[in-house]
Amino acid sequence: MQKTDHTPRLLEDLPAAVAGKLALAADEDVLIRVHSDLTDDRTYGAQWVLVTPERVVVAPEAGIDGAVEVAIDQVKVARTEALIGGGSLEIEREAAPTVSVPYSGSMAAKFSEVARGIEQLRKGEPFFINDRLDRTRCEKCNRLLPEKNGICPACIRKLATLKRIASFMAPYKGRAAILAVASVATTVAELMPPLVTKHLIDDVLVPTVGSDLSLADRYDLLGLLVLALIGVRVWSWGAELIHHWVVSWLGARVTTDIRAQLYRRLEMLSVQFYDKRSTGGLISRVSRDAEMMQDFLVDGLPYLIIEGLMIVGIIGFLFSMSWKITLLVLIPVPLTLLWSILFWRRMRKMFNKHSRGWSQLGSRLNEALHGIRVVKAFAQEPRELAAFEERNENLSVVSRGTARNWMALWSTMSLVTGLGILIVWYFGGSEVLRDELSIGTLLAIYSYMWLIYGPMEWFAEVNSWMTRAFAGAERIFEIIDAPPEAYEDPDAVAMPAMQGKVHFDGVTFGYDKSKPVLHEIDLEVAPGEMIGLVGRSGVGKTTTINLVSRFYDVDRGTLSIDGIDIRKIRLQDLRSQIGVVPQEPVLFTGTIAENISYGKPGAELDEIMDAARTANAHKFIMAKPDGYDTMLGERGAGLSGGERQRIAIARAILHDPRVLILDEATASVDVETEKQIQESIARLIEGRTTFAIAHRFSTLRNADRLVVLEAGRIVEIGTHDELLERDGRFAELVRLQREVSAIIAIKD
Ligand code: ADP
Ligand code: MG
Repeated sequence: MQKTDHTPRLLEDLPAAVAGKLALAADEDVLIRVHSDLTDDRTYGAQWVLVTPERVVVAPEAGIDGAVEVAIDQVKVARTEALIGGGSLEIEREAAPTVSVPYSGSMAAKFSEVARGIEQLRKGEPFFINDRLDRTRCEKCNRLLPEKNGICPACIRKLATLKRIASFMAPYKGRAAILAVASVATTVAELMPPLVTKHLIDDVLVPTVGSDLSLADRYDLLGLLVLALIGVRVWSWGAELIHHWVVSWLGARVTTDIRAQLYRRLEMLSVQFYDKRSTGGLISRVSRDAEMMQDFLVDGLPYLIIEGLMIVGIIGFLFSMSWKITLLVLIPVPLTLLWSILFWRRMRKMFNKHSRGWSQLGSRLNEALHGIRVVKAFAQEPRELAAFEERNENLSVVSRGTARNWMALWSTMSLVTGLGILIVWYFGGSEVLRDELSIGTLLAIYSYMWLIYGPMEWFAEVNSWMTRAFAGAERIFEIIDAPPEAYEDPDAVAMPAMQGKVHFDGVTFGYDKSKPVLHEIDLEVAPGEMIGLVGRSGVGKTTTINLVSRFYDVDRGTLSIDGIDIRKIRLQDLRSQIGVVPQEPVLFTGTIAENISYGKPGAELDEIMDAARTANAHKFIMAKPDGYDTMLGERGAGLSGGERQRIAIARAILHDPRVLILDEATASVDVETEKQIQESIARLIEGRTTFAIAHRFSTLRNADRLVVLEAGRIVEIGTHDELLERDGRFAELVRLQREVSAIIAIKD
């Protein structure tokens, strides 16, 4: 086996107890170390599987005596077998019974990698393992994740997340402080009126026995107390005004910040990041999740603090007035808490179902609208309608269920708190009758009770709401924390003037590390040389040129430009000197001129027109109503495929790259136009290193050398004529194409 530092390994943390009992040599190179979650007799427990280049060790975590060791050359075959609710890794041996390691469904992907890894070792193939498996379940709690490799809402570390969310407020400390003061002021204002009411009743309206206030004094006091109430009103009005003002300011600011930070990172992430994620999901992170996080931060959090302070304050006042009644008031608290916790489990399931329902509905809608032309072309509107309606109905069922459950939760809570209030009326009333409590105090307690039960009912909801906000925040942090492409690598080599020598040296690459698409590619391209890449669809032509743009990094071997490893070249320098005309050109909403000058903003119209002429696009552009100022719709709507390709070619020409990549750049133009483009390409490639992939081989006549790929390997290299003479793979492909065109010609 060829071992390099790049060899990926799949290693899980081995408990010390198990490690101590395994007799591994210190220098043994452990390639795989994973655990299963079922024991031999399929009860819960764990077994460890260790794989080194020489052997496989299977050891139960408990009672280590049962460890089994299999030398790699004793393995007949390693494979996985599906069982109900899981599967098992089967290692068949030459002269001994098969070793099986059962596991539950959540580990199926992992063990299929393990089986493949063992097989690679057994056959002496290069060892590759996918160390980044797709996770569909949470590793901690085994719940189904809302999205692949996503975040488990139940396992979020709340405190850490809260701190991080709060850090978005850091630049606005001053305003946050104002917000805090306003919050406390509001709380105090809300706590005052019952106290004033108490005096109003006890000293003015129904003076307690033994009070020596005259009627005139009582009039004065009445005026004073009402004035005090007015003061409290104005105070709370002011505090609320400031509060709302700061909240709306902060809210707008913080979402803008979050969105900006998110988008900045999204632009900087590698193509690889996007391969595994749905665009819709990413868009919703920028819009919905950012909003949710902002809601929580500037709206929810202060509210939470106010209500929390309020409860503490009220309990304090209540105790100072009558501790006996306070205890009575608090009776419903544990009950409602318990009730909401019990209920909450159920509600969470409903919420998850609800959000899954939404995302299913959304993705169907998204696809159907994007593909509306296909839907119509096949007259499948009724089918799409039916599919949509079914999901819509499902969502409605879940919505009704959620609403019913909410109702049950809420009404039960108000029943319990209502009973609490009646208890206070009865016992408090009795104390008043016995003259142990003043009427004013009873009324004050009564008012406070309403103030305390309100937030309490609301706290039941806080959990759900926080969980959702935190899950949104985590999804945002996941993007912010993803490693960006190395635009800012301080050690990168500047390459302002590229010569264009491209060297593939033993390059192996796979989108999935364990399934290489390109194998050991060796190719040296001289500056200014034109290389034609040839091969059937799916052999890895586009992949090869993706590596040149460094959309992906090679797994093994090196790819260098002008003798420098591409990973060391400043990304900005690299990309600005490579021009790509992709297989499916992407145009943006905007004018044709803007689209052509995309890689060189601010280009003069003359230059743009020259580029368009070279790309054979000038004529058709001038035939458009507004010429170069013609607006294109989303993704270049309003142009034919061939026209789009020619604009993309013009864009690459204007960019004036040292290395030009044409990926089936003329696939969607007619033969006549292709001939013309051919000529312009001949001019275009002069002095530039060019990689051209073409559907029609005649297009590649200009190429200095043709490289024929098959299943990710180079099988032939030579000039067009040389290869025809050799009568090998290329000649075969050419014959095939001739036959096909002959058939088409006859049909025409
Ligand atoms: P072609 O020679 O037709 O241009 P590609 O280089 O596009 O072929 O694809 C080579 C292989 O890699 C194909 O099997 C394809 O399915 C696979 N592949 C291409 N792009 C990706 C991707 N982004 N993720 C995973 N596999 C991919
Ligand atoms: Mg391709």
